[in-house]
Amino acid sequence: MAQVRTRFAPSPTGFMHLGGLRTALYCYLFTRKHDGKFILRIEDTDQERYVEGATDVIYDTLRGCGIHWDEGPDIGGPVAPYIQSERKDSYLPFAKQLIESGDAYYCFCTKEDLAHRREAVEKEGGTWKYDKHCLRLTSEEIQEKLDAGIPYVIRQNTPTTGDSSFDDLVYGHIAAPNDTLDDMVLIKADGMPTYNFANVVDDHTMGITHVIRGMEYLSSTPKYNLLYKALGFPIPEYIHLPTVMRDSKHKLSKRDGDAYYSDFIKKGYLTEALINYLALVGWNPGDEREFFTMEELIDAFSVEGISKSPAIFNTNKLTWFNAEYIRRMDPDDYFEMAKPWFNQALSGSIQDVRRLAELMQSRTEVFSGIPEMIAFFRERPEIDPELYVNKKQKSSAESTPEALALSVSLLEGVSDWTETNIHEALLSGIKEAGMKNGTVLWPLRIALTGQMSTPGGAIEIAYLLGREETFRRLMSAMDQLTA
Ligand code: GLU
Repeated sequence: MAQVRTRFAPSPTGFMHLGGLRTALYCYLFTRKHDGKFILRIEDTDQERYVEGATDVIYDTLRGCGIHWDEGPDIGGPVAPYIQSERKDSYLPFAKQLIESGDAYYCFCTKEDLAHRREAVEKEGGTWKYDKHCLRLTSEEIQEKLDAGIPYVIRQNTPTTGDSSFDDLVYGHIAAPNDTLDDMVLIKADGMPTYNFANVVDDHTMGITHVIRGMEYLSSTPKYNLLYKALGFPIPEYIHLPTVMRDSKHKLSKRDGDAYYSDFIKKGYLTEALINYLALVGWNPGDEREFFTMEELIDAFSVEGISKSPAIFNTNKLTWFNAEYIRRMDPDDYFEMAKPWFNQALSGSIQDVRRLAELMQSRTEVFSGIPEMIAFFRERPEIDPELYVNKKQKSSAESTPEALALSVSLLEGVSDWTETNIHEALLSGIKEAGMKNGTVLWPLRIALTGQMSTPGGAIEIAYLLGREETFRRLMSAMDQLTA
């Protein structure tokens, strides 16, 4: 096989859609697997949709995800430029070549003409496709219009008989009757190529051997292949990828905040977890493995493992991956990443954030979940007295007042407020009093936090709250019971 050359060709919209990121990832994996070259091409021919800074979002996202390109706008390469608008002058000569050979033609129809004729066809219950109106113009008529400066587009002249077919490496044999193919616009009135034309010219002139992209382009590919043939270009291999969906009916949507890479990073997902999970959305390694580094993905990746059916992106599954990745993090790295979330929730209300991080690491699924889990440090919620009752911990409504009083007296003896000293004082005192640990520690935890589930138990929490605050909370809990 000649050297593999693939490309990721995003349009600079300002955001990286997860579907696009998955395409980039599969392109990258495929290319590395085959020791090929991975090319980044920016498709910005739709000037109306131009967004300032959008190419940086593409660079930063890919780099942050560990997806590195061999040729691209910022690093150059043998087939530069890699930004479509800078290749603007390369398309027209090919379009003219197609006009010469009868595979394309000038079209002078105005928007109004088209709307009018479309309406008439649809009124009759038909489906509109361009009616080859301008194909009937004589060369004199065309020249006259060109000389008069009448705006035009250039359209592909698709055959009206026969079939066009090709073999996709994922979807298999795809055939389309030519009379269903639309005479699509190749060059727009502003002189810019459409995606439909630019992808063919660029993929050929950049030497792309494997076109890897979303399956929304599958049905247009027969038209592209007609262009390849008319221009005398060899047809590349195609690998179309199943659409990334939220569920079996819905695409990921920006409205639901689940479509963009940045949505997930903001919520506190780890890039590594996201990439690992995304790799499995539409591909499987053929065995039970779920955890992969990028190197392992490259090793395991194969086109045969790509699925044809829509790929469901399940946020719960991602969260599960994320929690696993967080658990495996180096504690220092966890602390660094969690700090802003701690600060947001605590504003200085505990004494040893480092210790809190130790307690929180195994309980963090997503960083954005942290503030809610630790909000009680800043302000304890109202205590529901029912919470004191816990059969398993041998704590009851009756035992609670005595248990809290015991905690107070034992903790009063702790002057150096360390976790070990608190532990020591409480456990030996409880033993001496002939009580069960749960009978005392459970109500203490409730009195301090107002909730059943907390990072760490009563001892850790008393330590983190500090002496003064521990007593303040204990007293107010006892007052509440006698009120
Ligand atoms: N610019 C197109 C997109 O963002 C690229 C499609 C392709 O890979 O050919 O969808």
